[in-house]
Order: sequence, then C-alpha cells, then structure tokens
Amino acid sequence: MKKGSIIQRLQKGIVLGGEGYLFELERRGYIKAGAYVPEVVLDFPDALKELHREFLRAGAETMVAFTYYAHRDKMRIIGREKDLKPLNVNALRIAKEIAEEGNALVAGNICNTWAYDPANKEETGKVVRQMYEEQVGWAKEEGADFIIAETIEYVGEALIALEVIKKYNLPAMVTFATTYEKSKDGVDWIEGCQMLESKGADVVGFNCIRGPQTMLPMLRKLRKAVKCYVAAQPVPYNTTEKYPAFQFLKDRYGENAYTLALEQHLLSRFEMAKFAKDAQEIGVNYIGICCGGAPYHVRAMAEALGRVVPASKYSADMSQHGMLGSSKIVKKHEKAFLEKWK
Ligand SMILES: [Zn+2]
Repeated sequence: MKKGSIIQRLQKGIVLGGEGYLFELERRGYIKAGAYVPEVVLDFPDALKELHREFLRAGAETMVAFTYYAHRDKMRIIGREKDLKPLNVNALRIAKEIAEEGNALVAGNICNTWAYDPANKEETGKVVRQMYEEQVGWAKEEGADFIIAETIEYVGEALIALEVIKKYNLPAMVTFATTYEKSKDGVDWIEGCQMLESKGADVVGFNCIRGPQTMLPMLRKLRKAVKCYVAAQPVPYNTTEKYPAFQFLKDRYGENAYTLALEQHLLSRFEMAKFAKDAQEIGVNYIGICCGGAPYHVRAMAEALGRVVPASKYSADMSQHGMLGSSKIVKKHEKAFLEKWK
C-alpha cells in the first residue's frame, strides 16, 4: 500500500516530520563533530537504519535520506570525495528500506553548501548548482518522493536549490535557517519565503537554529504571508529573545554552548508536544524537529496531534511508578518519603 504524494498528504492534514539525525548519531559516536559529514551511512549503516526505524515508530511520516552535508565540497574536506555517490545512493536506499516498514515518504535532502557568496554569485552559484544537481539527480534516480532543501541562510542559494528540484520535477520543500534578523544576503525572511513561493516551491518555512519560542512568532507572520504549505522544524532548545538562535546560547559557565554543550537548554517532550499544538493552531502544515531532536520528542508531538503511533505502546504510564504511582501501587511505607520531595 503506497502512501500518496507529499502534496496529497498535506491536502489531507498535517504531515509530521522528524529529523535530528546529525546530532543524534554524533552523540552515539558515529559522526565526527566539526565537519559533521554523515559518514555513518557507509561506515555503520545499521546504526542509521535503527535511528530511521525509531523515528518511524515515533510517528515520523517522512524518512529523510541522510545526505545532509554529503555534498562534494564537504566530502572533499574530509578526504572522501570518491565516496560521494555511494554515500548519497546508500542513504537514499536506507531511507526507502525503512520507509517501507511503515507508510512513510522518502525525502531526498540537500542543504546549505558554504560555497555560495552573494558578492560573487555568478561563479559560486555555478558551484552550488553543480552540487545540488548531483544530489537531486541521485535522489530522483532512487525514487525519492520529494526533496527537502534545508538550513539555507542565503535566499540566492535557496532559489538555486528550488530551481534544481523543479528541474527534476519533484515536489520541493525549502526551509531557511534563520540565525540572523535577515538572510545573509540581506533579504527579509518572510519575503524570502514569498520569493520561493512565487518560483513554485510547494512548501516553505524554517528549520533548525531557533527553538519554538523564537520560531513561533515568525511562523505566525509567514502563515499570513504565503498561500502555499508552511513547514516548521525547530531545534528542541530553549532559545529566547536575548538568544534567538541556538548558536548564541551559553553554557552555565558563560562559554558558548553550541554545538557540543547544549544539553542544559534541551526542551522536554512536553515542550515539543506543546510546540506541535501551537504550530497546528497557526496553520503550519509540515511539523517536525531538527538538531537535538530525538524519537521521544517526535512521539510526544505525534500524540499531541491526536495520533497513536507504534511507539505509543510504551508511552508513559506513571500510575505504575513506585513513588509517583496510584494509591494502589505506592506502598504505605514509601509514601512517607514522598514528603521529602516537596
Ligand atoms: Zn538542524
């Protein structure tokens, strides 16, 4: 039984995404922080499959091929340029294999390249386009249902991504990484999304960088400004008015917490569940999560949207807890200790 296109699904209602592969597999010891290239695809494919499966069980409706930062420039930096195609193709096949265990769609994935320079957009744009052409071409060959172009900070780069996706005749979801007030090439974020919409993007929005608190106000503006579908995949970190992007967060000693010491800012499953509800209320169509997110967040978001997912079988039931449980469960002699918790 297959599934319906991303557009058909969005017409019916919210599509739940689930990302965060990079941070999660780094934490598990399969990716090197710094370059953040998804070498795990070739070196430990079973670890990647398992994480896909966990997101699937948690209710993610899209298996995003783990090709983030698997473009030619990054592969060259880590000395694995010859692995470029095998890595991309394997990532797509793994995503497809696990998607078929459920009823998920497969998204090809391209991202910010670090190659685009608005001061030299002709020449650098060509380099970016070539890298996107390779990756989107492989995604098309491997049967991806749509493409997510994400974490892009230049509107110029996003427009190239969109053009390439449309050239391959695939539905396009393009989302910006809104670190600063405007894009790095000086465009208002909402206007950037409107430009994407006018050029035929099917889904526009924001991913990564901001937590719910600082992404929700932007989503309210965006929803009013575009007619196409809107996507929101925030990071599960407590970004604030003072520190609107997670790159700016400090650890408890005043040092930069990004990227490796963000834990103290991590949002709970309940906070991400609330985000899902808030985004639903605004009218966001594709709701997900980015760096820092884990399957338990996605399950809580799915359940907040009224869904029962495979992993719901093991959702919390605190009535059976030895201290916090119901009066039938908690032993009399234990109850006294609860007083000390107050
Ligand atoms: Zn991210």
